[in-house]
Amino acid sequence: MEISTETGDARSATLMVHLLGRCNLRCQHCYMEGAPSRRERLPLDLVLGAIGECRALGIATLYLTGGEPLLYPGFENVLETASEDSELAITVCTNATVVKAKHVSLLKNANARVNISVDGNQNFHDLFRGLAGAFKATERGLQQLVKAAVPVTVVSTISRANLHMLADMVEWAANAGAIQFRAQPLLNLGRGRTIPDQRLNQSEMNHLLLQLTDLANRYRPRGLKCNVVGASRSFLRKHPCGAYVCNGAGCHRRVAQEIKKVVIREDGTILPEITNLNHAFAIGTLFDGPLSTLVARYFEEGYRRFDQLCRSTYAEVLPSWDSEFIPWDQIVAERSQAWKPPATLAEDIVASCGACAPQPQRPPGVGQDCTRCPVSVDDQSITVA
Ligand code: SF4
Repeated sequence: MEISTETGDARSATLMVHLLGRCNLRCQHCYMEGAPSRRERLPLDLVLGAIGECRALGIATLYLTGGEPLLYPGFENVLETASEDSELAITVCTNATVVKAKHVSLLKNANARVNISVDGNQNFHDLFRGLAGAFKATERGLQQLVKAAVPVTVVSTISRANLHMLADMVEWAANAGAIQFRAQPLLNLGRGRTIPDQRLNQSEMNHLLLQLTDLANRYRPRGLKCNVVGASRSFLRKHPCGAYVCNGAGCHRRVAQEIKKVVIREDGTILPEITNLNHAFAIGTLFDGPLSTLVARYFEEGYRRFDQLCRSTYAEVLPSWDSEFIPWDQIVAERSQAWKPPATLAEDIVASCGACAPQPQRPPGVGQDCTRCPVSVDDQSITVA
């Protein structure tokens, strides 16, 4: 069983585009607070422009999300433009309640993967997702996609309220024809902050990891992979680059400035790495100019603050973190809300994986990667005995 990153199977960098804030659901936990009343929406021409820069920026994976991305008026154009880059891996994150035949053929033609959120049995899902009938609608959408051989990952937000349903959810995902089941422990972000008593404590988190490991072994022969979204403490300790702090002289990436994921929020704000990061750390907005120009400027003017945030978080949190699972993005996002530069910067964070020879310093860019080292952020994994 793996602990996977939100960046999925990226060979290099990822672009995550929140096309709009509007969603037909209003889920209790929504980390970006999607709702029917939300009006923010990215202009289509700017979205297409950003996607057109993916190759130049070294972006290999595109996530289209929202809100509910299938409600975005230009969704067809976005998907067609993205699919023109045959090396760009596309994943659409949807609640699947509004899937129509046209979406299925669009997704199929674009060779896209689809992440569908399902949180439990019908009663629980409808309650958690705030709409009676949501489960059945999602199930219908999923069935259409599976029938068309579109690869589907079922993503479940796991809280105290549905932890006991885990085995049933995995069985449901396998029977439904999903290729992957991904557990997302409830985060203290967005509307998730309003249900703090539902977050897993450490013992429950360990139970989740143990049970999911068992389920991963059981369902592998049926073609279903199981993993959990988050970071592995041992991986981050060994590879600080997984925590966005990889500037150490001994670190295998040895990249002076690097962003592995660029997030475009529904209001146009461009953020490094983390959807819920304080906008004070923003790269800019999509309205300010071409993405590549803004990223280049960020490395000159803004990256250092973000780097300091990550370094100080790493230095303060990692040594005393006592469990294997660590919700790294949540921790950095929370700390970003009230962060002030420390008097002494944690610039001496150096960790060596010992897996590769020294690399020359590289010029700034997005998604620069070590070409010789066999280790990447996607190697984050955990084996629970
Ligand atoms: S379906 Fe997704 S975007 Fe919509 S409210 Fe629920 S979690 Fe948020």
